[in-house]
Amino acid sequence: MAEGHAVHGTAQRLRAFVGQPVRSRSPNATFDAGVFDGQVVADAQAVGKHLLVTAHGVGPTVHLHLAMDGAFAVRRHRRVLDGAFPRTEPPVHGNVAWRLLSATHHGELTDPAVCELLDSDGVIALRARLGPDPLRDDAEPEAARRRIQSSRRPIGALLVDQKVIAGIGNVYRAELLYRAGLDPFKAGHDVDDDTFDALWQDAVDLMTLGLGAGWIVTDEAQLAAARAVLVRDERVPRWPKRYAVYGRAGKPCHVCGTTVQAQRMGLQRLFWCPGCQAP
Ligand SMILES: [Zn+2]
Repeated sequence: MAEGHAVHGTAQRLRAFVGQPVRSRSPNATFDAGVFDGQVVADAQAVGKHLLVTAHGVGPTVHLHLAMDGAFAVRRHRRVLDGAFPRTEPPVHGNVAWRLLSATHHGELTDPAVCELLDSDGVIALRARLGPDPLRDDAEPEAARRRIQSSRRPIGALLVDQKVIAGIGNVYRAELLYRAGLDPFKAGHDVDDDTFDALWQDAVDLMTLGLGAGWIVTDEAQLAAARAVLVRDERVPRWPKRYAVYGRAGKPCHVCGTTVQAQRMGLQRLFWCPGCQAP
């Protein structure tokens, strides 16, 4: 499952089309992509795990959710084409829901969970049902604080509830709770202000770094190394992933030696260390 940093990464790549007229169609007829055909793309942005793409002078917004299997590949043409868009299109392979072509780029969306046109009311309704997204400048963490501190549900369930915070998935949930030393079963209303502030700030920091690196980094040594690479404006290599608890059920905690536990919480398995994250 793509977590928020990956969806924001897709939005960044889609911005290659911004300001350009595009040829737009839906080879497998998922939606009416023709409304964007010949139009100039205005913006591509992520809100949590959702993507919103708009074009100048076009009413509806394209709303995408990639979920488990979806992908939006964007690549540069091998040679920049003359004129607005290519005359001939490359053949379609696979289950392509949306194809975008500009003079410089080719984008192909495959197997999305959601690919639809939304009017402005639909966009407002979508935004209203999502909590603040740690990767967005306009995020209002107070909304997440209120929802968490007024809930009896466990913090482990609240963190991945997209109505509470948008963008956190199963890996970030496990690692954020571990880094905060927080018992995942603690009720939301027992999470104090300082704990919430630290959790939110860590989510902002880790997910921002994850967006820059292109993969989820949560290990302190790897975080330091990745920051050093990003400061030099270089690409962070895909080092072997080192998690504290995620995917480590039955193995000893690196810090306290307690056996890492896992159990279903919400739709996915939650991983935690009962030693470091004691009630
Ligand atoms: Zn531990």
